[in-house]
Amino acid sequence: MHCLGLDSGFVIYENKNNQQILPIYIERDDVFLDKLFKKYRKIHKAVQDQEKPKRPYKNTSKHCARCDLAPMCWAENDIDDKQEYEPF
Ligand code: SF4
Repeated sequence: MHCLGLDSGFVIYENKNNQQILPIYIERDDVFLDKLFKKYRKIHKAVQDQEKPKRPYKNTSKHCARCDLAPMCWAENDIDDKQEYEPF
């Protein structure tokens, strides 16, 4: 909606088992979008500057406990930052 300059739209869910359609009306939330784009700009800048973004959690958090990237994320200097990793 933001890219198209629309104020509202529909998210359409399709049940793959029976092709039943569920349209959900949503209105554009500019406050939410501003926060989201601010976060994306930070990440994009970190990638361009080849710097790791600041971690949003402590390594003891429940988020990190369930994260597949934790061994690399918390390895500090054990991992070569220039190394290419295979996608999952
Ligand atoms: S381990 Fe995962 S969840 Fe935790 S900071 Fe790193 S990337 Fe984020």
